[in-house]
Amino acid sequence: MTKVFIGVGSNLGSRAGYLEFAKKELLSVAGLEDFRYSQVYETEPLAVEGGSFLNAVWSFETSLSPRDLLEKIQKIEINANRQRNKPNEARTLDLDILFYGDQVIREPGMTVPHPRLHERAFVLVPFCDLEPGWEHPELKRTMKEILKGLNSGKRGTGYVKQIRSALPVDRSTKEK
Ligand code: ADP
Ligand code: MG
Repeated sequence: MTKVFIGVGSNLGSRAGYLEFAKKELLSVAGLEDFRYSQVYETEPLAVEGGSFLNAVWSFETSLSPRDLLEKIQKIEINANRQRNKPNEARTLDLDILFYGDQVIREPGMTVPHPRLHERAFVLVPFCDLEPGWEHPELKRTMKEILKGLNSGKRGTGYVKQIRSALPVDRSTKEK
């Protein structure tokens, strides 16, 4: 079994509903277990059209290969009405593989660790709910250290401040 972290986001439609949908769909995929969920954060969109996001990070153990896992999460995005007409459009559901254990994968259509995770507060903040001591296999720094670097202004200054609230997902499911 390999430990996986995924970034989850939605900024279109019933955002909390789409997060709940993804949670249920993943629970029904064979070969995934030991799920853990960060809090849900509301964040300003960064290079994506539309309104604010709900973001979270989830982890689980898997026996699926990276490719098979990517295929499963892409199906879940499609089932959540995800449209792909142009790169930066608002999305009902975005599921990104952040880490697949400590593996470094660079293949067409698949880059792991996710190439931008270390400059995104909306990934690092929820990630640190789960496992602040997790070490990035290429940067050789822990997630907590990388987040501290962001906050101290080296990269992405200010963005962290735009995280407005932490909504436990179960409290926000009534949102339309
Ligand atoms: P983004 O998440 O960057 O806004 P998309 O969700 O539309 O963009 O993803 C675009 C493509 O990124 C997907 O078709 C997928 O093949 C590719 N991709 C590359 N690496 C990853 C990864 N680690 N996790 C998820 N998708 C990835
Ligand atoms: Mg994506």
